[in-house]
Amino acid sequence: MTPEVAGSSPVSHPKTHPKQVVGPFQVKVPVPMESGRIPRHWRETIGLILAACSAVLLLLAALQIARLNAEAGGDISMLARERVAIEYSRDLRTLFVDVEGFRRYLALHGDPHMDPAVRSKIDGEMRHLRALTVGPAQSLDVLISWQAVDHAWATARRGRRPSSGRATSVVVRRIEDLYAALEDKSGLMYDPYRNSQNLADIIFAKVPGAINEAAHSDLIAENAVRSGTITIAERNELAVLLHLTSSDYDLSTDGLSEVLADARSHDPSLRSAIDRTRADSAAYSRDGTAFRVLAGAAVRDRIHPAGDVAAIRRSAQQALAAASRVNDDLLGIFDRSLVRRSYIEKLRDRYLYAALLFAATFLVGTLLFVAEVLVRRERDALRQVQREAARLSAELALQKADRALRLSEAQFRAVFEGAALGIAILDRAGTILDANAVFRGVFADDATSVLAGQEENFAELMRGERDLFEFEQHVLSGAGNEAWTDSTVSLVTDEAGEPLFAICTFRDVTQLRSNERRMLHDMMHDALTGLPNRLLFESELREQFERVKLAPDGLYAVLFIDLDRFKDINESLGREAGDFVLGQVAQRMRAAVEPLDVVGRLGSDEFAVLIRSISDVVHVELVARRMLAAMAKPIVLRDRSIFISPSIGIAVGSSAYDRAEDAMRDADIAMRYAKSGGGSGFALFDSKMYARSQKRLELTTDMRLAIDRNEFFMLYQPIVSLVDGSLCGCEALLRWNHPLDGLVLPNDFMPLAEKTGLAKPIGRFVVHAACTQLAAWKRSGAFSRRAFAMNVNISATELEDADFETMLLKTVRQSGVVPEDLTLEITESVVLETGTRTNAIVNRLRAHGFKVCIDDFGTGYSSLRYLQQFKVDTLKIDRSFVAGADGEVASEPIVRTLMTLAESFDVRVVAEGIETQVQRDVLRNAGCRYAQGFYFSHAVSPQELSAMYPEAFGKAPRPASA
Ligand code: C2E
Ligand code: MG
Ligand code: MG
Repeated sequence: MTPEVAGSSPVSHPKTHPKQVVGPFQVKVPVPMESGRIPRHWRETIGLILAACSAVLLLLAALQIARLNAEAGGDISMLARERVAIEYSRDLRTLFVDVEGFRRYLALHGDPHMDPAVRSKIDGEMRHLRALTVGPAQSLDVLISWQAVDHAWATARRGRRPSSGRATSVVVRRIEDLYAALEDKSGLMYDPYRNSQNLADIIFAKVPGAINEAAHSDLIAENAVRSGTITIAERNELAVLLHLTSSDYDLSTDGLSEVLADARSHDPSLRSAIDRTRADSAAYSRDGTAFRVLAGAAVRDRIHPAGDVAAIRRSAQQALAAASRVNDDLLGIFDRSLVRRSYIEKLRDRYLYAALLFAATFLVGTLLFVAEVLVRRERDALRQVQREAARLSAELALQKADRALRLSEAQFRAVFEGAALGIAILDRAGTILDANAVFRGVFADDATSVLAGQEENFAELMRGERDLFEFEQHVLSGAGNEAWTDSTVSLVTDEAGEPLFAICTFRDVTQLRSNERRMLHDMMHDALTGLPNRLLFESELREQFERVKLAPDGLYAVLFIDLDRFKDINESLGREAGDFVLGQVAQRMRAAVEPLDVVGRLGSDEFAVLIRSISDVVHVELVARRMLAAMAKPIVLRDRSIFISPSIGIAVGSSAYDRAEDAMRDADIAMRYAKSGGGSGFALFDSKMYARSQKRLELTTDMRLAIDRNEFFMLYQPIVSLVDGSLCGCEALLRWNHPLDGLVLPNDFMPLAEKTGLAKPIGRFVVHAACTQLAAWKRSGAFSRRAFAMNVNISATELEDADFETMLLKTVRQSGVVPEDLTLEITESVVLETGTRTNAIVNRLRAHGFKVCIDDFGTGYSSLRYLQQFKVDTLKIDRSFVAGADGEVASEPIVRTLMTLAESFDVRVVAEGIETQVQRDVLRNAGCRYAQGFYFSHAVSPQELSAMYPEAFGKAPRPASA
């Protein structure tokens, strides 16, 4: 069974056995294929039958051949040669006679000068010989020998040789050569067949000799008949012949008869011929014997040659005839024997061919059989090898499968244990069967927590209704460690698709989630104080808003808190100190509310508090007071105490609000209200505040339009000498001629202008107007006798503007006045600390020639010692120290102290806000030399001013052209 994992990432189970493994060692042995139409097992039988049958037939043929061999007796070719020899000897018989006769004449008659009868006789012999030798039976060497004889005879006959005797002997010698050549023709080879041999022996050994000797004897007898006597020589010769013939005349001896008997028994057809031969042989023997008797008597008894010789000759001729007959008979016998023999031979040849055929068939059959047997054996052997190979292959495959399984198991283990994922195998009940280290590290063996909340999904998985499911889990281990897992549980089924087990893998996303959490926390919290930032606070507020919607009777409160003049702390003590103060403030705020309440930092020095539940307005006022009290304690940084005060705006939230943001907005408005009341306090939002803030909004819009509509104009308040009451300068004060509201004073719109970025264009207008006015006055000849200062108020935002310096210089130059004519009033709240940007700008402005006055001096935090480093030309003592109740000086000691300080720094002092003579006198007595206030004059138009101080403006002054 091969388990498979459902889903996209299949995992093979470690215990899986492969269905089939074909190893690289599998041996494939080819088995000979059955080929041909005859089945293989038949071929073996056919071979065997073929071999057996042909063996039997071969045996029969061999027997037949043996029988025929026995019947034929000897070699047929030998027999044929014997027959040729016999025929030859018959032909030679005459030749021998002639040659002998010729030789005898020459030997006997030696002299070539013989009588013509002899010569003609020799010539006749010669003709006879020639006829013989040129016959077809003669061989070449006989012919050659004959030609030599012929030539020698011709030579001898012509008698050209001096010695005719010698010539004759040459002829004789040639004849003897011819004779020898003729005789050589009878030489036969040995014949193993005795009968044939014997027969041939007899024929050649006896018959020619007998013929020869008979002929010889006939010649001697004839010679003796002719001469009438037998010479001694003839007698001797005859004696020799007798001796020679004595043993040879009987042909019945030497086994001839045996031979003939043998031939007779073999060939019945030869019987008559053999019998005749026997008879002839007997006749020859008889005639020979007769001759021998006669010739012997002639030799012995020297009988009268006539009668005796005739008898001898007769007997010799009779013997010759008998011999010839024997020869002919034998020839006949041989011929017939040859015919028979050739027939046997042919028959034997046929048997031989048949035997050969049978032998071949036997061989083929045997080969077929043997080959088949061998092939069968080989095939069996191959089958054996193949079986062995298959067995080995299977064994190897098994081993390999085992190895592969082990390897797979090891690999699985390595992957399983080394995986960065947590992996566990769960059985159908959800119990952990196996789990890797990562898995155990998170879940230990707690299967219930693995699938916590996923029971339904797991059940569906195990019912095969789904392949996998995924979920994210927050795990809290027993040791208190927490982890986040991103898990996938996938199903493993068998081949039939039946659920077997499940594989649970998870990615540990703890780090990811904690990073996310941190990021989210960082995103939602203020880095400095650790408090929720605006984002989180607003989100909490929205949640609260939603909750209250559900419970309409519930009340909550939003506190908007702004630290008063915090910017001063930052600029005077440094950012680090500012951060420290903010941290302390945050802690104090947090401590002043309930744990469930939310304290957030909205930005720089702005904080907000959400009081989740209040019983009534008094409750929230209590909280605000607690907070103010907590803030009132000084914050100690290093060796100094820093006092901080908040302005708190409170909006009571209820279901009446449409949007959460509205509560926030109202708290903000209330805070501004509190701040406008001097700070360090709280204000509860009411509808008037909202109206006012709406008004502010309208004002902002109107302000933007006012610049273009030329609704702004300047009034000038004189600055006079307390010594002689003369005009020393004036302060340019901005007025807005609002189309609906009429005259609007700068305190009502400048703070807003500073906040909305409109302070810069308004500032440009003020500088331009003041310079133009001054230039006009100067052009008209004013202040020719005495120095005149034109004081222009510069707001903090203007100073911060990078283009301010350039704008100022440009306006001054274009107006036709000099920087020394202008005194720039900078309120003390713009802290003039060494090293700040403002400080650098003010220094640069002074370097250009402008005079600098610190306005509202004494109200800010910049202590007098900064004046050591920060050079100014004038200090303007704030109105609050001067104008007291009932026209008295508000705080004479302070005024005096300030005067003393200013003197020590060699700075000109202007007292502001003098409304009464008392105040004027006190100030004058305190040493103040310059003053400004309603006592002298309100801010007035240029015309009014020049009318007021004609002596300063010289002749009748004219107003500045528009
Ligand atoms: P400040 O610079 O201290 O100006 C003097 C203010 O005191 C003027 O009010 C003036 O009318 C008023 N004042 C003078 N003598 C007396 C007096 O005897 N009794 C009383 N009660 N008040 C007196 P104003 O014109 O309403 O200006 C208020 C503030 O608005 C100014 O205070 C100044 O800070 C600002 N301001 C006025 N004009 C401009 C301007 O052109 N540019 C800028 N940036 N600020 C301006
Ligand atoms: Mg001023
Ligand atoms: Mg002032």
